[in-house]
Amino acid sequence: MQNLLHNLNPEQLAAVTLPAQPALILAGAGSGKTRVLTTRIAWLIQTGQVSPAGILAVTFTNKAAKEMIARLSSMLPINTRGMWIGTFHGLCNRLLRAHHRDAGLPQTFQILDSQDQLSAIKRLLKSLNVDDEKYPPRNLMYFINGAKDQGLRAKDVEANDDYNRKFVELYDLYDTQCQREGVVDFAELLLRTYELLTRNQPLREHYQARFRHILVDEFQDTNNLQYNWLKLMAGQHNAVFAVGDDDQSIYAFRGANVGNMIAFEREFHVENLIKLEQNYRSHGHILDAANTLIANNSRRLGKNLRTDAGHGEPVRIYEAESDIREANWIIEEAKSLINEGATRSEIAILYRSNAQSRVIEHALFTAGIPYRVYGGQRYFERAEIKHAIAYLQLMDNPHNDSAFLRVVNFPTRGIGARSLEQLQDAARQYGISMYAAVPYVTGKAGTTLGGFVKLIEGMRFETQNLPLQELVQVMLDMSGLITHYQNEKEGADRIENLEQLVSAAMLFVSEEGFGIDAPAFLGPKSAEVAGPALTIADGVEVLDADAPLPAVMSPLSAFLSHASLEAGDNQAQAGQDALQLMTVHSAKGLEFDAVFITGLEEGLFPHENSAQEEAGLEEERRLMYVAITRAKKRLYMSFSQTRMLHGQTRYNMKSRFFDELPDEALKWLSPKVQHRWFGQRKSAWDEPPESGANNIAQSFNRDNAGWRVGETVSHAKFGEGVIVNIEGSGTNSRAHINFGRHGMKLLDLNIAKLEKV
Ligand code: ATP
Ligand code: MG
Repeated sequence: MQNLLHNLNPEQLAAVTLPAQPALILAGAGSGKTRVLTTRIAWLIQTGQVSPAGILAVTFTNKAAKEMIARLSSMLPINTRGMWIGTFHGLCNRLLRAHHRDAGLPQTFQILDSQDQLSAIKRLLKSLNVDDEKYPPRNLMYFINGAKDQGLRAKDVEANDDYNRKFVELYDLYDTQCQREGVVDFAELLLRTYELLTRNQPLREHYQARFRHILVDEFQDTNNLQYNWLKLMAGQHNAVFAVGDDDQSIYAFRGANVGNMIAFEREFHVENLIKLEQNYRSHGHILDAANTLIANNSRRLGKNLRTDAGHGEPVRIYEAESDIREANWIIEEAKSLINEGATRSEIAILYRSNAQSRVIEHALFTAGIPYRVYGGQRYFERAEIKHAIAYLQLMDNPHNDSAFLRVVNFPTRGIGARSLEQLQDAARQYGISMYAAVPYVTGKAGTTLGGFVKLIEGMRFETQNLPLQELVQVMLDMSGLITHYQNEKEGADRIENLEQLVSAAMLFVSEEGFGIDAPAFLGPKSAEVAGPALTIADGVEVLDADAPLPAVMSPLSAFLSHASLEAGDNQAQAGQDALQLMTVHSAKGLEFDAVFITGLEEGLFPHENSAQEEAGLEEERRLMYVAITRAKKRLYMSFSQTRMLHGQTRYNMKSRFFDELPDEALKWLSPKVQHRWFGQRKSAWDEPPESGANNIAQSFNRDNAGWRVGETVSHAKFGEGVIVNIEGSGTNSRAHINFGRHGMKLLDLNIAKLEKV
């Protein structure tokens, strides 16, 4: 028997071997929380306290779930396939598939990602003739998701004015539309499961009896609904083991509530609160930077981190003149790390916003360095892939109107707006899906639409007994997508992406069976009962925990769920040894030998949307803390004076976070910049900066009371700022100045007492 416990320090050991009672492990980054959680699962199984089927473990990303399962397989000779380890969404998906009838869903229900959800909302507003300027679709989406995250249906939301009443009404209609089409959004996955378990007592009791041990990683980022869901699953007797770090709570914007940690301690009567204070991840300077930074936050539960590792290398900081130079610097540094023997996949480049990745990607591409982007435009979000997925969705569930509308006339087959209007009218009239309404459309429109239905039916027929990857191939051929892109000028890339869908399907099947295995519970009688509100009276059948689990989902359904739920993995680049690019949010829980934190500028990081309020700023600081603590050995930070973002050149101040780091841990690589202007640049920089060069050149020649765009100035009240633009000339010159935390000000250059910095 493998000794699972010998690699643990005393506090970790205590946590791993706690009795089956509610427990909270509160500890900083890199202190081994995830390791403790995984080891505890292994230990519980190895000592016979629970079978693999009795464990429910919640992780924050699919990647983390996969890693946990892989670790468990290496620790124990058990079959991990089918273990309930996954994200809240993944686990709920699995539950709903198994009990779709009780949950009031078709077995082939499909999952809307946020992009699909937004277009479903737009379609709804259009069909109702609602003014989308007055009721912006995106706001309605936030409204709906916010309500669902609180566990509220439309009928439960209190609206105190007409405007809100309209939102509530639209929320209700949106739910009806989703129900008709057999689709659920992300928040719905959770709410539906929660409602199912609340009203269905036998089912609830079954799962409560089954999952004796519930373990939750990254507990600080659970929202209210997730917390209540856990309470429901735990019942009176189950041991919930939660690990988290209040300093890493970074999802408040999605309703996460750090207060859940405090509520958990109280409501679950937690007697076992364990703190871990030894950090095993980062070298000293890196840890000092993290500790000093986060000490600026006021609302903290309080804990310390120390390390036995030496100071290591100082944090290297670079000020670039432009975003392009910043990217080039990153590449030079990464190259020298690789020359020193670093593995590419151990180097991460982090940014606050996805939009920042473009310049870095371009530079990496030009330099021929393989890289992999997490998040951003996901493989499954590319237009051509969306089209292919829509065909697959229709093959699986033809009532998905979003999928129907996406491809009914793509590639073009002569189905015009008029025909679709007729079809939509019929669908509305009979309260059915567009697919089902096709027979009600007469005339020429009816014939062309009928042709489309035949096409889909033909695809279903042809692929009945085919393995998933062949099914995908047949769909690509029969749909006409490949031919369509062959005729398009820049279609080659798209065809390549489409062909990768076949490989993705193959990988999916080989890697995980179907990725989502069936649960060990199938109420055979419940499966016969229709309607949402019914419960199973008997027939609660519990299979032997170690018996192979029957499939409740077709490979196609499973693959489609995977396409919607997979957190931004780019299939195309999987498996390569590549540099890792991602937002700070998606780096949570991960670690790398070397980390670059880029774009550390006021307005960007901290982000302008958050920096105005204390709570927002504290969240940004936690985000920075997460970023810093991803690094094991080397940490780099960079910022740029100018940056092209969303089509505009921005002139940025360096992030205030630099002032919150300990000097001893830092090494500034760039000369302190006083050389922004043409006259001086030659001595410090060889070429003019790429971004923003024109603006600088334009303003250079003007008589602007001696001031120039891009120049750093100091103001008695607002502190340091950067001139963003200058209007007028001579005695009439006024300038917009970005004062970072004080925001943008318009000042008269002849009156404001500005000083050059
Ligand atoms: P985060 O808050 O970032 O999620 P964490 O607290 O979950 O961090 P882990 O990822 O579990 O931390 O551990 C950080 C690193 O330290 C991992 O590489 C892990 O293997 C290592 N580690 C944890 N405990 C020990 C130990 N007792 N001895 C040696 N290495 C350890
Ligand atoms: Mg962790």
